[in-house]
Amino acid sequence: MISYDFDYYQPATIEEAIELFHSLDAQGKNPIYFSGGTEVITLGRLNRILTDAVIDIKAIPECTVLKKEQKRLILGAGLSLTRIRESQLFPFLSKTIAEIADNTARNKITLGGNICANIIYRETVLPLLLTDSQVVIAGQTGIKERPLTKLFDKTLQLEKGEFLVQIITKQSKTKLPFLSVKKRRQWDNGYPLVTTAALKKNGRIKVAFSGLCAFPFYNPQMEESLNDFQLSKEERIEQTLRLIPSPVLDDVHGSAEYRLFVLKNTLSDVLDVFKGVDDLKKS
Ligand SMILES: Cc1cc2nc3c(=O)[nH]c(=O)nc-3n(C[C@H](O)[C@H](O)[C@H](O)COP(=O)(O)OP(=O)(O)OC[C@H]3O[C@@H](n4cnc5c(N)ncnc54)[C@H](O)[C@@H]3O)c2cc1C
Repeated sequence: MISYDFDYYQPATIEEAIELFHSLDAQGKNPIYFSGGTEVITLGRLNRILTDAVIDIKAIPECTVLKKEQKRLILGAGLSLTRIRESQLFPFLSKTIAEIADNTARNKITLGGNICANIIYRETVLPLLLTDSQVVIAGQTGIKERPLTKLFDKTLQLEKGEFLVQIITKQSKTKLPFLSVKKRRQWDNGYPLVTTAALKKNGRIKVAFSGLCAFPFYNPQMEESLNDFQLSKEERIEQTLRLIPSPVLDDVHGSAEYRLFVLKNTLSDVLDVFKGVDDLKKS
C-alpha cells in the first residue's frame, strides 16, 4: 500500500503533459512522470518516491509509436518491454530485455521507465548507447533530438519538467553482430552482478556495462584498449580493466574482486566469440 494520496493525470498530447507538469509544480505538487509505474509504485510504497501528482505518458501517441521510418527504427518511451521484444525489430535490445525481470513485469515495465529508472541498472541503455541511438525529449522549449551518448551521463540528463518521448536507432545499426551477457549471483532472473553488452562494427568491438559500477556506462577509453591489437588478448583485457572509470561495486550481490573476475572472463568470451565470427567469415 502507498501511504499517501496522489492525483493521476493522463494527458493526450505532449504539450498538455508539459503544461500539466509546470502548473502542478507551481502548485507545489512535486509532479513526476509515470510510464509502466512499476518503480513509482514500488518506491512509493517505501516512501522513497513522494509525490502529489503523477503524469502518465502512455496516452500520448508519440510515446507508443513503434515504426520504421526513413531507415530508422522509432520506439516510443511508453512501449512495454514485451511489446518491443515481440516486434523482433531490434535483436540486440530484445536480448537485453529478455534478461530483465520476468514476463509479467516486462508486460508493464516500459523502455522509457527503464532508461529513466532510479535503480542503478537501467540495462536497456546498453544496446542503445552502443548503437549510437538518439533520444527525443520534450520540454517547455519544444522537442529536441540528441545522441544518447551525449545526454546519458550515469543517468539521462533531463531538465526539470522534460520527459523522454522516443528513442531512434538507425536500422543498419540494429543489424550489427552483438553479444549481451548477463551474469547474476544466482537464479535465472533478478538484478545483474555484471551485464556486458558488446557490438562489432567495422572490425572494432564496442562494450558497455551495467552492475559493474553504480551506473551503466560506455567508456571510449576502454573500447580503445580492447581494440589495441598490438597487444595480446590477455594484455588487452588487463589494460581494459584498469580503465574502469569508477569504483567497482562491492555489495550483497558480490564483492568488487568477484565482479572483476567475472568481467575478465566475460571479456575473454566476448573476444573469442567475435574472433570466431571473423574466422568463419574468412573461411
Ligand atoms: C521483478 C523486477 C525485476 C527487475 N529486474 C531488472 C533488472 O535486472 N535490470 C533492470 O535494468 N531493470 C530491472 N527491473 C526494472 C527496474 O527495476 C525499473 O523499475 C523499471 O525499469 C521501471 O520501469 P517503469 O516503466 O515501470 O517506470 P516507472 O515506474 O513508470 O518510472 C520509473 C522512473 O522513471 C521516470 N520516468 C518514467 N518514464 C519517463 C519518461 N518517459 N521520461 C522521464 N522520466 C520518466 C519516473 O518518473 C520514475 O522516476 C526489474 C523490475 C522488476 C519489477
